Amino acid sequence: MPTDTFDLLPHASPTADAIREDILANPGFGQYFTDHMAHVRWTLNDGWHGRRVLPYGPLTLDPAAAVLHYAQEIFEGIKAYRHADGSIWTFRPEKNAERFRRSARRLALPELSDEDFIGSLKALLAQDHPWVPTPKNEADECSLYLRPFMIASESFLGVRPSHEVDYYVIASPAAAYFKGGIEPVSIWLTEHYKRAAPGGTGFAKCGGNYAASLAAQKEASANGCGQVAFLDAVENKWIEELGGMNLFFVYKDGRIATPRLTDTILEGVTRDSVLTLARGEGLTPEERPISIDEWREGAANGEITEVFACGTAAVITPVGELVSEQERIRLAGDNGNPIAKRLRAKLLDLQYGRAEDTHGWLTRL
Ligand code: PMP
Repeated sequence: MPTDTFDLLPHASPTADAIREDILANPGFGQYFTDHMAHVRWTLNDGWHGRRVLPYGPLTLDPAAAVLHYAQEIFEGIKAYRHADGSIWTFRPEKNAERFRRSARRLALPELSDEDFIGSLKALLAQDHPWVPTPKNEADECSLYLRPFMIASESFLGVRPSHEVDYYVIASPAAAYFKGGIEPVSIWLTEHYKRAAPGGTGFAKCGGNYAASLAAQKEASANGCGQVAFLDAVENKWIEELGGMNLFFVYKDGRIATPRLTDTILEGVTRDSVLTLARGEGLTPEERPISIDEWREGAANGEITEVFACGTAAVITPVGELVSEQERIRLAGDNGNPIAKRLRAKLLDLQYGRAEDTHGWLTRL
């Protein structure tokens, strides 16, 4: 969709170049936001309309807006990467657009087309492209993190799908998500909390899933862990995923396994890309149920040689240990995680335009 289908209300006093450059030199993650945001409105009578890019700023919401009471909300996470020639690209946005529609259906929100989803990213970047950081070298994993989201904005009390909805995209310059880079992270296995149940919203990217994970996240932090691993809600036996990443297990015979998709797991774009890249690396990818016992035993007897987490924010990050109140599951040997590192380098080379895009995964913004 051409960006001119989005009307522009330019920011009257955008961030000064020197201040933006200071921010981009050390952006952290999710702390600073660009000068504009994209917006599209939906009403039951008129459908999607009012496409525009406007100055970034607080929203005006009626205190009775449905999202504030019933959490009818979904979001996405996707990055824009600056290539060496200065051009700006994003990675498999049609996968995020498709997931956004899946999330919308589950939350009884209206579906947004690929054209509007990708068009809104392009329209925002047409204004805020100076906010996409330039990597200093191959190890500098900086990007502009894009956050599309959709909220129920009709004011009424009563539980039914909202007749008024607003879609926005905001953007935040980002350095690497884990400060330690590819140092293995410790993961907390929560005993008490479940992230998702069959028939629920686990496969959707809705705020409620993350709200429900915060108590476990707090437990994880108190125990020195950066992320939480969740087991299934029915048997308390099957590994599902982390609070914000999917999990992979590497076996010494060249298999690489990830939990198969169910309605309690978020289908990661990185997960899908890793399955494809692994095949190209001569590994045998498997999507199947993986139990906590398999992790425990495989770690102890050396069958499992690496565990890693993957997602847009953290790319691919080795998991050093799984910690719970009862135990610490560590791999028998530390081999330096060569597969995770190789797949990570493959993925980053594609995203930053250092390798040929043979899968057609890149879209220019
Ligand atoms: N699982 C959850 C719960 C997540 O929030 C994310 C991040 N979107 C992922 C997995 C990884 O998904 P992706 O690779 O698309 O970022």
